[in-house]
Amino acid sequence: MAGERILVIEDEGRIAQFIERGLIYEGYRVNVARDGKIGLTAARDNPPDLVILDWMLPGLDGLEVCKRLRAASDIPILMLTAKDDVKDRVTGLDAGADDYLVKPFSVDELLARIRALFRRTVPLSRPDVLRFADLTLDTGTHRAYRGDRAIDLTAKEYELLELFMRNPRQVLTRDVIFDRVWDYDFGGESNIIEVYVRYLRQKTENESESRLIHTVRGVGYVLREE
Ligand code: CA
Repeated sequence: MAGERILVIEDEGRIAQFIERGLIYEGYRVNVARDGKIGLTAARDNPPDLVILDWMLPGLDGLEVCKRLRAASDIPILMLTAKDDVKDRVTGLDAGADDYLVKPFSVDELLARIRALFRRTVPLSRPDVLRFADLTLDTGTHRAYRGDRAIDLTAKEYELLELFMRNPRQVLTRDVIFDRVWDYDFGGESNIIEVYVRYLRQKTENESESRLIHTVRGVGYVLREE
């Protein structure tokens, strides 16, 4: 949705293509590796935002790729397996996979798992300090500042501000904001986003401070300087 890059390590051409098409259609950027070693090298040279990793691979098997990737990074890893067996699932998770999917699976199921992984792992695996203009957001402590002024945020206000600060100068549509922050559909009538943007503006903009969260009429909102 926001163009995250996904590396697919899968040797079976038909399945790799099926996954690639589904992901591209959804707006992700996709690279495919057909071999474990090549996939591992690709992940190291140009770290993606998420890895979809088949279990049975030539070169280096998926389990080994998973262990080596995990030793070096927190990239979310979704394993694919034909082995529908509890013991193998546990082995995969022990090796550091975040989730797995048993073949055959539908593209909808794959996309749902990916969204869940991004929601679950991205904020946790990347505690850092986000800055935009004089706004600062510490994703480890959840503290926000405008200049030196500390801002108290509720959990939802924090999530909304983090979404803006991770995507500065990009227009975020109402649908994207719903999907990322509220996680379910309020329907077209809800004004919850407007309400929360108002809260955020009240807290982040006092009288002497410039507007940072701007309305893009009929579309959504954007974090940008005047
Ligand atoms: Ca395979």
